[in-house]
Amino acid sequence: ETMVNQIAAGEVIERPASVVKELVENALDAGATRVDVATAGGGLSLIRVTDDGSGIPEAELSLAVARHCTSKLTDDINDIRALGFRGEALPSIGSVSKLAIRSRTAEAENGAEIAVDGGRVASVRPAPANRGTLVEVRDLFFATPARLKFMKGERAEATAIADTVKRIAIAFPEVRFSLSGPDRSTLDLAPAGEGPEGRLARVAQVLGREFAENSLAVDALREGVRLDGYISIPAYSRANALQQFAYVNGRPVRDKLIAGALRAGFADVLPRDRHPVTALFLTLDPALVDVNVHPAKSDVRFRDPGLVRGLIVGAIRETLARSGI
Ligand code: ADP
Ligand code: MG
Repeated sequence: ETMVNQIAAGEVIERPASVVKELVENALDAGATRVDVATAGGGLSLIRVTDDGSGIPEAELSLAVARHCTSKLTDDINDIRALGFRGEALPSIGSVSKLAIRSRTAEAENGAEIAVDGGRVASVRPAPANRGTLVEVRDLFFATPARLKFMKGERAEATAIADTVKRIAIAFPEVRFSLSGPDRSTLDLAPAGEGPEGRLARVAQVLGREFAENSLAVDALREGVRLDGYISIPAYSRANALQQFAYVNGRPVRDKLIAGALRAGFADVLPRDRHPVTALFLTLDPALVDVNVHPAKSDVRFRDPGLVRGLIVGAIRETLARSGI
C-alpha cells in the first residue's frame, strides 16, 4: 500500500508546490474563507496549510489519508465542482513525508489529529484545534531520496510555491490568503469581494498596481465561448511566462494551447524571448472541455481547440489594435 501510494505520489506530487496546490484546493473545497500557508526550506522541510473550513469529523480522519477515499464524488462527471475528487493527494503526500492533520468541525467539542510517517499511519488521537483544518507536511520526499535529487533548490521551490498560491488566489477573490514563513516569498491577500470587481481587485493585489496601470481589458465572445480578463501592454513584458495566469471555468490551468495562442497573439509586437503578463478567463459549456486529463489537473482538453485558439489570438490582436499598438 505504501508502495502504491509512493508511485501515485510520483504522479501527483512533483515538487513542494504540488503539495501546496493540493492542500490549498482541499481547504477551498471545505469552504474556507481564509487559507494560511507557511513554508520553510522551499517547502521541503515544512509546509503548513491552515483553513477555517468545514473540518474533518474525527471518525473520518483515517479515511482522509486512505487511498481513493474522497467525500467529493458526484454522479455527473461533467459537474465536478470540487477541485479535488480522486482521493489521492493526502495518501500520496503521507507516503513520502511526515504528515499530520489536525481538525475540528463546528459541531465537535474537541479536535483530533492523525499522523502519517512515510506511509505508516498512526492512530487518531485527541488534539486541541480551532474550527477547520491544519495540515502539516515535514521532510517532504525523505522517504523517496531519488525524488529529492530533482529539486531545484530552496529559492526556486519557494518561488514555485508563491506562484501556485497566487494562481489559485486569483480564482478565489473572496477568500483571504496568506503565505509566510522563513522562505522569502510572502503574501497577504485580503478578501477582494465577489463578481467582476472582486476579480479585478484580486488581480491588482496579486500582479501589482503597475500591472493594473499597464494592462488592457480583454472581452470577447465567439460561438458561446467567452474570454475576458487582462493582458499587459508589450512594454510591460517579462523574461519568463511565470506571470501568465489562465483559468477555464474558474479553474487555474496551465495549458499548451493557451500558451501558444498567447504567443501567436503577441507575435507581431513582442520578440520570442519576451512574455506578456496575463490574467485571462475562459468561460464555456463544461461539456466542451475536459479539465481532468492528468491527476495534477492543470491541463485541459477542448472539444474544439481551433475555436479556442482563434478566439484568444483574435481577441489579443483586436485589443492591442484598439489601443493603437
Ligand atoms: P480529494 O480532495 O480528491 O477528495 P484528498 O486526498 O485531497 O482527496 O483528501 C481526502 C479527503 O479528506 C477529502 O475528500 C476531504 O473529505 C478530506 N479533507 C482533506 N483536506 C481537507 C480540509 N482541509 N478540510 C476538510 N476536509 C478535508
Ligand atoms: Mg484534494
